[in-house]
Amino acid sequence: MASGAMDPKIARDSESEGEEEEEEVEESWDDWRAGEGEDDEWAPVVSVVCLFCTEQFDSSELLFEHCRLEHCFDFYGVVKNSGLDFYGSLKLVNYIRSQVSQNKCWSCDQAFKCDRDMLNHLHVTNTCFKKGTKFPWDNDFYLKPYLEDDPLLHSLSMDDEDDENGNGDVADVKLVDRKEFMNQVNFPNLEKLEDQFGKLMENGVSEEKGEENNLKVVRHGAAVRERKEVDEDYFGSYSSFGIHREMLSDKVRMDAYRDALLNNRSLLNGAVVLDVGCGTGILSLFAAQAGASKVVSVEASKKMATVATQIAKDNGAEVINVVHSMVEDIEKNLQIEPKSFDILVSEWMGYCLLYESMLSSVLYARDHYLKPGGAILPDTATIFGAGFGKGGTSMPFWEDVYGFNMSSVGKELVQDAARIPIVDTIGPLDIITDSVVLHSFDLVTMQQDDMDFTSTIELHLKPSQMMDHLNWCHGLVLWFDTDFTARFCKENPTILSTSPFGPKTHWAQTILTFREPIAMCSENGRSVISSLSSKEIGTEKCPVATVRIRVSIARASHRSIVVSLEATGLGFDGKKKNWPVQIFNL
Ligand code: SAH
Repeated sequence: MASGAMDPKIARDSESEGEEEEEEVEESWDDWRAGEGEDDEWAPVVSVVCLFCTEQFDSSELLFEHCRLEHCFDFYGVVKNSGLDFYGSLKLVNYIRSQVSQNKCWSCDQAFKCDRDMLNHLHVTNTCFKKGTKFPWDNDFYLKPYLEDDPLLHSLSMDDEDDENGNGDVADVKLVDRKEFMNQVNFPNLEKLEDQFGKLMENGVSEEKGEENNLKVVRHGAAVRERKEVDEDYFGSYSSFGIHREMLSDKVRMDAYRDALLNNRSLLNGAVVLDVGCGTGILSLFAAQAGASKVVSVEASKKMATVATQIAKDNGAEVINVVHSMVEDIEKNLQIEPKSFDILVSEWMGYCLLYESMLSSVLYARDHYLKPGGAILPDTATIFGAGFGKGGTSMPFWEDVYGFNMSSVGKELVQDAARIPIVDTIGPLDIITDSVVLHSFDLVTMQQDDMDFTSTIELHLKPSQMMDHLNWCHGLVLWFDTDFTARFCKENPTILSTSPFGPKTHWAQTILTFREPIAMCSENGRSVISSLSSKEIGTEKCPVATVRIRVSIARASHRSIVVSLEATGLGFDGKKKNWPVQIFNL
């Protein structure tokens, strides 16, 4: 899938990207207020909505104080007693919002007929949410923001200072600096929301309903409208031939699908195949060529459905039946038996595997139309990660432009890259650590919620780096493989890899840059280095042996994802340093 079709902003050193960002800042200028202190001067007016009622506050501190006094809920107390880290706190907030939307008590799970009864019931929790026990919110599902762009989530951060012993595991949830906050949050467009609210009211939502109900309706209405708009942009972007040419020219992609479909004849011969998102119909053509008895090729872009129909006709592929529809609506457009397909094939992958991904549509099609035991191609997907050196940043280019030093530009771009992921190719020599599996998906068994996950990996310098004592790790690069395994492709298992160690693909890699590089060294360099204080861990004075990275990927607003990254440096003497969580919106 030509990911990013909708969002050409994602590119290294993109000038237009900078311009667009400036515009965004200008747009929100009116929403800012002048404060007294230097820090406050830039404080944006962002309302955080109470977890239990509709009251809104200028800061999460005020909000949590209100929750403690009005709703018997002591956020900081629960976080401390339960030993929650940043992710735990994030899940707690989303869990409570989800419970409250169902009029359920967050602590004892009792359900009520109306929100007023639930609010009256709230009590100081006597449930034992002690460190080490299983909490009801301890599910990656709750990584997903319950409210889109919930500013409350962005105001949670781990303290970056370790305790005296360099113990970075002590959770201390605090407010991030307001400027930092401004950098991280995509502010909800309040005007747009109000506008949508107005339209909803015009369209007959009763004003007599309680304020809270209206808020819920607005949220839902806004989400539906946004989803529709995003879908229109998304499918509209697939009407352009350029994107299809890019995909058809991607040899790694094309060869993998061709080999999987043409070189597994016993699987394809006589099979009934569903091609989810057929585009030009190339995968359907391969399936027809391999001997499929019938291919239903579903395409949501009207223009591409017409094109695919013509191409199938021009190539005499009579077994192909192109249907213009979202696969989720196919029964409205075609008489189709549930669970009647032998094979489901789709090229659904986006940047970083999941950005703009149509994986949820593929899972929907699997559950509704694939025969029990039917084949899904590809059937696994794996995200990998590795640490990269300076060559993976913009710096080397800007440091020497025809002999002139333009590193001020490079520095600015590196700062931007610490919050906006860069999709670009990275050279194998720029990878300085071993490559590690971040997460694997089994497309046969996975569920929709499995798309949100948290994973912790440990990176060590790769052997070829060992000769140098000091190496600066500038961030984490992600890529993916999708496999056509021997489970279904018995004759010829095939791998589609977007690895930096293989030939380039249109997916490139996804580059997440640290706010500051972390110095690493190998066992060889150990004798010359002794750590001084935990602050100096990961600096030139005290390089680390291991960088532990905790990454969460969660679906955010429709078709986009949020990646959070939390790095810990582990020194040879057991001391650790945590860096503050970084949030990347993709
Ligand atoms: N299979 C083609 C195109 C892949 S790009 C190829 O390999 O070249 C993904 C295509 O899926 C796009 O054309 C897009 O419009 C379509 N698509 C995405 N989500 C869909 C959905 N839910 N239902 C039907 N088509 C979808």
